Amino acid sequence: MDIRKVGVVGAGQMGNGIAHVFALAGYDVLLNDISRDSLDKAVALIGRNMDRQVSREKITAAEKDAAMARISTTLTLADLGPSDLIIEAATERETVKQAIFEDLLPHLKPETILTSNTSSISITRLASRTDRPEKFMGFHFMNPVPVMQLVELIRGIATDEPTYKTLLKVVESLGKTAASAEDFPAFIVNRILMPMINEAVYTLYEGVGSVKSIDESLKLGANHPMGPLELADFIGLDTCLAIMNVLHEGLADTKYRPCPLLVKYVEAGWLGRKTQRGFYDYRGDVPVPTR
Ligand code: NAD
Repeated sequence: MDIRKVGVVGAGQMGNGIAHVFALAGYDVLLNDISRDSLDKAVALIGRNMDRQVSREKITAAEKDAAMARISTTLTLADLGPSDLIIEAATERETVKQAIFEDLLPHLKPETILTSNTSSISITRLASRTDRPEKFMGFHFMNPVPVMQLVELIRGIATDEPTYKTLLKVVESLGKTAASAEDFPAFIVNRILMPMINEAVYTLYEGVGSVKSIDESLKLGANHPMGPLELADFIGLDTCLAIMNVLHEGLADTKYRPCPLLVKYVEAGWLGRKTQRGFYDYRGDVPVPTR
């Protein structure tokens, strides 16, 4: 199927990045949110992020202008009716996502492909509540979208081959690389990454190492660009905990038990960079370990 018009639902952190890369790749993008403020902020942020790409000579000013002109916004979900592809990137709550697809379906063409950028909700379950589970897929972008090369493509149990092949081509057209994953909790990246981060927190909890020695060990000893605790602060400790809970509940294996120290940081509201405190305190000029 030829994809030209893309409807993005949710203009937050991920939605604005998704709109950014699709517009630069030549697609017409219609961005929807329930908040006018989110839409305005998203467009302004996309403009600033593209300006940075222009100053780094990754794109030209003319390419930026053309891409910005391809992005429009709406508060009315029904306006996404003519889309060839829907990418749902709204708040990570199943009832929210379900309601979006329910409201959207009566306005769509029968051939429109539906996708969700969810990090943890079952694609098969979301798909089963639509009129086209065979045209439904997980389309998992990484944060920040314009920078990260990988996109996970997740097939629900009913997803058909033409839908998968169409999305593979779309990923290619964005200049990104697809990894295919089956629909099991946390897919591939988070299935491997989050237990590593959780283990780093256990290593801290049990006093095996300090924040500094744990992060330095993985940076200098395993060539990771960021230490696991630094990375956890970047992702958000609430997000890390939520994904560990999904793994623990979804796979029913004690090896995914969230570390009590991770739970305590979240209970304290020390969620990482976004709250200025997590495994590091970011309120000063340089991050200072909190343990
Ligand atoms: P966010 O909180 O930054 O943005 C969510 C946006 O959805 C908000 O602007 C909100 O107003 C909007 N929204 C809520 N209900 C809506 C509705 N009914 N209709 C339209 N818009 C609605 O969240 P985010 O970090 O961008 O995450 C979005 C999705 O992407 C989630 O499913 C998340 O799991 C997934 N994801 C996040 C990351 C990440 O690192 N943040 C990475 C990969 C995938």
